[in-house]
Amino acid sequence: MESFDVVIVGAGPAGVAAAYLCHRSGLSYIMLEQGKTVFQGIASTYPEGKNVYPSKPKDNPEPFLVEELRPPDKPVAVEKYIQYVQHFVQHENLNVQTEVSFEDIKDTRDHLVVRTSKGDFNARKVVLAFGSNIPRELTVYGDAKMVATSLDDPRKYVGVRTLVIGGGNTAADVIISILKAKREAQDTQPVYWSHVAEKFDVNKETAQRLGEEILLGGNIRLLPGAIPRIGEVDEEGVDRLVIRINEFRQPDGIEIYHAMSFPMKSVIACIGYQGPLPIFDKIGVQTIACAEGVCTVAKEGDRLILLTAEYESTRKGVYVIGGAISPSFMKICGGSIQEEKHPNLIYTAINDAAHVVDSIRKKLA
Ligand SMILES: Cc1cc2nc3c(=O)[nH]c(=O)nc-3n(C[C@H](O)[C@H](O)[C@H](O)COP(=O)(O)OP(=O)(O)OC[C@H]3O[C@@H](n4cnc5c(N)ncnc54)[C@H](O)[C@@H]3O)c2cc1C
Repeated sequence: MESFDVVIVGAGPAGVAAAYLCHRSGLSYIMLEQGKTVFQGIASTYPEGKNVYPSKPKDNPEPFLVEELRPPDKPVAVEKYIQYVQHFVQHENLNVQTEVSFEDIKDTRDHLVVRTSKGDFNARKVVLAFGSNIPRELTVYGDAKMVATSLDDPRKYVGVRTLVIGGGNTAADVIISILKAKREAQDTQPVYWSHVAEKFDVNKETAQRLGEEILLGGNIRLLPGAIPRIGEVDEEGVDRLVIRINEFRQPDGIEIYHAMSFPMKSVIACIGYQGPLPIFDKIGVQTIACAEGVCTVAKEGDRLILLTAEYESTRKGVYVIGGAISPSFMKICGGSIQEEKHPNLIYTAINDAAHVVDSIRKKLA
């Protein structure tokens, strides 16, 4: 198993800044990213052509602590900023492994072990920088982990009957990309579009683009009111998702239904994002619920992660930074605990990384 001073999870602004600073300080490190490329989180959540601003919270005197990653003063389109950062990562030869999904952290006597979809990594310290947008996974009887939650390459679905789950703009955008790839390859196989509700809900602009693809020959079959039910492995070892496309409940309790079973590799679920709380619970870091009148940013009952002033969680050696702790967290400071504002900005993500790597460097010296 490979061992590092620091294992960094996520290659957004926080992760890339942390990796760069580890690199500059001579710490051994690896940055693990679940997407196809560095800055996948930004690539998947910003609308096409959106300008990126070097925004700074008003009351913060600190400059950007990693000037190299600061978005330019004259705003540029997100695609340009991403391209610049990807060149930077390449040029600095930062140690990044993509398409690796973080799963858990285990303790051994002298190491932390970071469990991922591609095996385990030993770490002296772990920096969690996975942002605030964790794709929701399907909850079905059985296991649906093989179902994709985003579209990396639409050409993968050419020649394949594909199922896209989810009733909003993200699902519609995925379908538009697949229909376009199919049209270019003269593939007439349909894309099935399912949603648990009876009504799909997309904005006008997305609906127009989808309509255009359909008029250009896109083969799309709508499955409103369809419910994903079971994740299973068939006798040939193929992971499958069974989705009920309609059901008729009989008065005596019997259910008659039609269902379709798709190989999971032909399914994409775009059912929205959730915050990182389930991950915090899974790895056993402490969170605190806001009591009445205690928090100003969070609402009563919201659970916030508990961190030291150096962003270390209640699990020793595990730090959490960036969007994952926005818009506020509970800070342990001089024996008291207080809600600390933490705006979700590239600035905060980068500066958190600088403070954490500095603290780790001193501890490991
Ligand atoms: C539409 C939009 C516009 C914005 N515009 C601006 C702006 O103009 N200026 C500004 O300062 N801020 C802006 N923001 C906010 C800014 O993008 C975030 O504050 C910033 O991206 C947070 O950085 P991060 O590294 O913490 O998280 P992210 O950028 O979310 O990066 C986290 C990375 O971790 C990866 N990851 C997630 N889970 C796992 C896992 N289990 N295993 C491995 N990897 C994982 C993700 O794929 C992702 O690449 C905008 C946000 C949005 C949504």
